[in-house]
Amino acid sequence: MTKMLESVISSNELPESTEVVIIGGGIVGVTAALALAERNIPVVLLEKGHIAGEQSSRNLGWIRKTSRHAADVPLAQAADRLWAEIPQRIGREVGYRQAGIMFLAKTQEQLAMHESWHQSVADLQLDSRLLSQADIDRLVPGGRGNWAGGIYTPSDGRAEPAIAVPAMAAAAIEKGARLIQQCAVRSLSMAAGKVSGVVTERGEIRCQQVLLAGGAWSRRFLGNLGVALPTLPLICSVLRTKPMDGPTDIAVGGPDFSFRKHQHGGFIITQRGKLDAPITLDHLLVGWRYLDQLKTQRSFLNIGFGKHFFRDLALARRWQPSSQSPFEQIRTMDPQPNPQLNQDALNNLSAAWPAFANASIEEAWAGLIDVTPDSNPVIDQIKAIPGLTVATGFSGHGFGTGPAAGQLAADLVAGVSPIIDPAPYRFERL
Ligand SMILES: Cc1cc2nc3c(=O)[nH]c(=O)nc-3n(C[C@H](O)[C@H](O)[C@H](O)COP(=O)(O)OP(=O)(O)OC[C@H]3O[C@@H](n4cnc5c(N)ncnc54)[C@H](O)[C@@H]3O)c2cc1C
Repeated sequence: MTKMLESVISSNELPESTEVVIIGGGIVGVTAALALAERNIPVVLLEKGHIAGEQSSRNLGWIRKTSRHAADVPLAQAADRLWAEIPQRIGREVGYRQAGIMFLAKTQEQLAMHESWHQSVADLQLDSRLLSQADIDRLVPGGRGNWAGGIYTPSDGRAEPAIAVPAMAAAAIEKGARLIQQCAVRSLSMAAGKVSGVVTERGEIRCQQVLLAGGAWSRRFLGNLGVALPTLPLICSVLRTKPMDGPTDIAVGGPDFSFRKHQHGGFIITQRGKLDAPITLDHLLVGWRYLDQLKTQRSFLNIGFGKHFFRDLALARRWQPSSQSPFEQIRTMDPQPNPQLNQDALNNLSAAWPAFANASIEEAWAGLIDVTPDSNPVIDQIKAIPGLTVATGFSGHGFGTGPAAGQLAADLVAGVSPIIDPAPYRFERL
């Protein structure tokens, strides 16, 4: 858990009823609550732990269009517009800077992937451009890497997750949303074939509609309702250095490291080429859906069988609303960072940019990512359960698009014209 996470002072009182209940206080739930409150729609957000305690404070803070699937770019473009407006909209800073994102290729094969992505988004008016070694040396001086090339999008950016999401939550409260922390939602109440409320660990709230924005927990919540959402977990380890001088303000992703400046002067670094992939029962149940991804991404995964398997197995997959749910057993998913991966990231980065050779680590953490078979989220109404909308499965890239995803979910709930065409995010495609 990062030490930087700001806490949010929220309500303790459970109302008897409201119009919309949001399950989950990550960036998606919080920005949906903000958008609904701004429309004067009564909304209560329930978070089992604390606001942004899981993925939404642990991520790298990259806000990118680069390397997104072409169908996912309009959401990222809408998010760029929203990020730029957020400080004025909420009266608080969120650390947003449009300082650019660059990905580097070591081999011709990696460069070909960037070229092919660049072609795939040719019609989308992006400012992305391919880079030569000389361009890279000019934009990020002091390097020793021998690069085949790279890709750069100046209008990409970053924000500070541990500050941004609590700030947006505080603004949502000011605008009339009620946020309640340490309150897990166990299940839904149904009446006349549609949602009529939620059952929480502290009692029931009646409502017309529910938005599930439960991150890595959404699969389990829906599974208990008989709805199969395929997601699998991956764990990403991160470190933050003490304040230091670095080569650039641009966020840079190499094949086996990434770095970006933190607003307090240090750098946020990760081993971009490796993620921990703890085997769980879900791998046996839905793993076959990921065979295509596995073929291309096997080398990125540290597949491991261990304590995560048994911890996950001990959590119920079916329960009654009257009994304790898994969401009360694990208030905050707080996986251990992998010190070897963090050290590798620092070593690989120091070899490429020696300015990092003397970096010292201020803190390290990890986060558990929810990945769908096509690495895109679901933002949709669930036909089998009228009154239930989900916005989940952001597959490791939902912070940047978060404000637009939350807005889109709020649009679907409110029944107004959506901020972008939601077709790429249909549940049925999975
Ligand atoms: C290490 C790491 C690096 C990343 N880097 C980036 C990046 O640079 N850029 C980017 O765009 N994305 C990045 N991501 C991904 C990004 O963080 C996520 O896609 C995004 O935060 C997802 O937001 P969310 O609101 O869907 O989920 P979360 O932030 O996980 O929030 C879900 C919340 O729901 C709560 N909840 C679940 N079930 C219940 C229940 N039944 N009752 C009450 N509460 C419940 C949980 O406690 C949790 O707080 C990264 C992720 C990680 C872990």
